[in-house]
Amino acid sequence: MTGAASFRVEVPPPADGATRGRIGRLELTHGVVETPQFMPVGTNATVKALHPDDLVEVGASIILANTYHLYLRPGHDRIARLGGLHRFMAWDRPILTDSGGFQVVSLGDLRVVDEDGVTFRSHLDGSTHRFTPELAIEVQQALGSDIAVAFDQPVFPTSERAVVIDATDRTHRWAERSLRAHDRPDQALFGIVQGGLEPDLRAASARFVAALPFDGICLGGLAGDETAAQREATIDVAVGELLDDPRPRYLMGLGSPADLLEAVHRGVDLFDSVLPARVARNGQLWVPGGRLNLMNKRFLDDPEPVQADCPCLLCRSFSRAYLAHLLRARELLAYRLATCHNLTFTLDFMARIRAALRSGTFPAEMPELALRAGPTSGSAVAEKSA
Ligand SMILES: [Zn+2]
Repeated sequence: MTGAASFRVEVPPPADGATRGRIGRLELTHGVVETPQFMPVGTNATVKALHPDDLVEVGASIILANTYHLYLRPGHDRIARLGGLHRFMAWDRPILTDSGGFQVVSLGDLRVVDEDGVTFRSHLDGSTHRFTPELAIEVQQALGSDIAVAFDQPVFPTSERAVVIDATDRTHRWAERSLRAHDRPDQALFGIVQGGLEPDLRAASARFVAALPFDGICLGGLAGDETAAQREATIDVAVGELLDDPRPRYLMGLGSPADLLEAVHRGVDLFDSVLPARVARNGQLWVPGGRLNLMNKRFLDDPEPVQADCPCLLCRSFSRAYLAHLLRARELLAYRLATCHNLTFTLDFMARIRAALRSGTFPAEMPELALRAGPTSGSAVAEKSA
């Protein structure tokens, strides 16, 4: 452990096993994060369209920034010279950086994986680059995030078993190299569990990563092309191996409220996704019980707010008609207002889950929370907005 993070379970799961959901308190260099918690994604050192004050107002206590994107542009050395990522983007609360593994594998063009690292071509200009566990850590240490993540080789959840075994074994070797390379004392380091959807591989990966001195455990390789049932079964296997483990558990890439609710119930503490912000920019506004598609003509004459009881920048001043107009005119304010709303909805939803967990009514309140989350799972939303 680095000593740069301390995690305390304040409300453990009930002894009767009705849920694995729990309340935790994660103390980091730049502040405290209550869990379960959702992290908005600031890919290019900005959560698209939002000022840091907007982020505070929507209730964000921690955000994620992408190592791959910041390495390519503007460059981690430049950010370090300018005082580090917090100073650069004027965000003084915690930041988690991912390792770049997912982007290198999914965005990079060329993408040749060998034992030492990954060679890939930039999605920006086609230039050739190489990521190794050591470089991924060096970049994150230069950025100065509160939490860095070990470099891994993700695979699509439904890949063939031989492919999953190969990538998972390599991820384990890279986890050890990431640990050896990391020496920034004010930065925590999380390890990543892989193993695809195969229960034995996922369990073995969870045991391997849990045996290493990481500050937290990420569940990688999910929120991809798997079904909800496959994802839930895989979470159960991994969390089942971690029940007595004192560290936070982070499921990478999950973002629809219905999916978040189910994963909290199964024992996950941290989440991130571009989904709420991305669908907002496409005119999909999340409201209790479902969503409104503001591109629908009927909203052009609707004087009501998007959600009457919502305190966000959009709902407290503007009508559905105004936002529908801005979106059609592609006015820039639309993106800020819509993003503020969907992140307010998502972070408020997490706060409702925490309140239920804290008061001991969580599994009983799940049907009510599921109604509020609406019927749409992340994969369905992502398809519609792609
Ligand atoms: Zn709102």
